[in-house]
Amino acid sequence: MSRKLRIAVVGAGIGGLAAANSLRKRGHEVSIHEQVPQIGEVGAGIQMTPNAVKVMRALGLEDELKSVSFMPQAILGLDYRTGRKLFRTPLDVCDQLYGAKYLHVHRADLHRILSQPLPESIFRLGVKCVDVGTVNDTAYAKFGDGSEVEADVVLGADGIHSVVREKLFGEDAPRFTYNLCWRMVVPFDEPDFNLVAPASTMWFGPNGHIVTYYVKGGKGVNVVACQETTAWTAESWNTQATREEVIEAYKDWHPRLHKLFMKADHVFKWGLFDRDPLQAWCKGNVTILGDAAHPMLPYLSQGAAMAIEDGYVLGTALSADTSVPEALQHYEALRKPRTSEVQLKAREQGKTNHLISPMARLRRDIEYYIRGLINPQATGLKAGWVYEYDATAVA
Ligand SMILES: Cc1cc2nc3c(=O)[nH]c(=O)nc-3n(C[C@H](O)[C@H](O)[C@H](O)COP(=O)(O)OP(=O)(O)OC[C@H]3O[C@@H](n4cnc5c(N)ncnc54)[C@H](O)[C@@H]3O)c2cc1C
Repeated sequence: MSRKLRIAVVGAGIGGLAAANSLRKRGHEVSIHEQVPQIGEVGAGIQMTPNAVKVMRALGLEDELKSVSFMPQAILGLDYRTGRKLFRTPLDVCDQLYGAKYLHVHRADLHRILSQPLPESIFRLGVKCVDVGTVNDTAYAKFGDGSEVEADVVLGADGIHSVVREKLFGEDAPRFTYNLCWRMVVPFDEPDFNLVAPASTMWFGPNGHIVTYYVKGGKGVNVVACQETTAWTAESWNTQATREEVIEAYKDWHPRLHKLFMKADHVFKWGLFDRDPLQAWCKGNVTILGDAAHPMLPYLSQGAAMAIEDGYVLGTALSADTSVPEALQHYEALRKPRTSEVQLKAREQGKTNHLISPMARLRRDIEYYIRGLINPQATGLKAGWVYEYDATAVA
């Protein structure tokens, strides 16, 4: 690399930290500006699909990730009431097919692993970005405490309610999808495979679905229970809910799920939002990534994975021998088609997951069955095209 750029990252979430790692590896000078006074993550799981694991490898963080992960054997689709198997996509072939493993990790562990290589001195905490822009080839970010930073690039990694995006392109609220989720991490001393399969298990029911998988090397099970709703629900990871609420919402679902709900100490709920793909991500020397650029439904487990890929590709693009605005345009051109496709396919998957009509569900289940007979990788989520992508090979 021939130049060293100053890059101010707004937001120390998964995307901001991945970008900071990628940029520092290429010798750029990075500062991170985060609104919360203390770095940390909520208690929830994250599915690290092979495309995200390849980036972690390139950042030198794969071994540490594996050491705190659980390796699922399959993606399993089950009927919500009988537990009948609808499909099974084996995951032990991920190395051969997609070039990396499929891992389940606790968000706090992932956040810690991404933070560790970054020196404390580059973080500024408790500062909320309120404005950004570009003047004479220099980007600036202004903060609520009156402070201001200048840099060659300002990167908005500030999540779904991004101030950076709003300042670049105007106000435009993310769309409430009328999907509500409860989440809980149920503690386990040892994995109990009679209760929870060693898989990414999706229970399909009318109007909703439930995903379960082990995290913390098997010492916890992440449960995400999604349901369509008519009531507006806030987008917050920390709205408290009760076990009883979940039990009532899924009262006719399989007894194994109820056993799991009964073991939960804390339940949270939140509403799911997404956005249509944006027209543009960059203006002058400012750009965005992750949920700020492309919030998506979690039905392909790709929000964090896309943010991690964005961060890596931004590092590559900014290290090319072009002007900063050209490099940012190149980053956008490389990333937007992929993230837009994943955004739209995740929406479609939600519809498939939540079919109400018994006939439509029967048709779906027969299709799963037939596809599974022909090729188990082509049934269920059919997301091989997502997993095979290698952001580290994108020029
Ligand atoms: C139910 C559910 C399950 C999911 N499961 C998966 C999964 O299995 N796999 C997967 O890949 N993804 C998953 N995701 C998606 C994933 O969690 C998000 O897409 C991902 O966290 C986005 O990362 P980000 O860095 O863009 O934003 P965030 O992680 O939201 O980080 C944004 C950061 O910016 C800070 N910030 C915000 N505004 C400002 C400001 N004005 N000034 C300074 N700082 C600011 C915030 O405090 C935060 O630290 C799931 C999401 C949901 C809802």
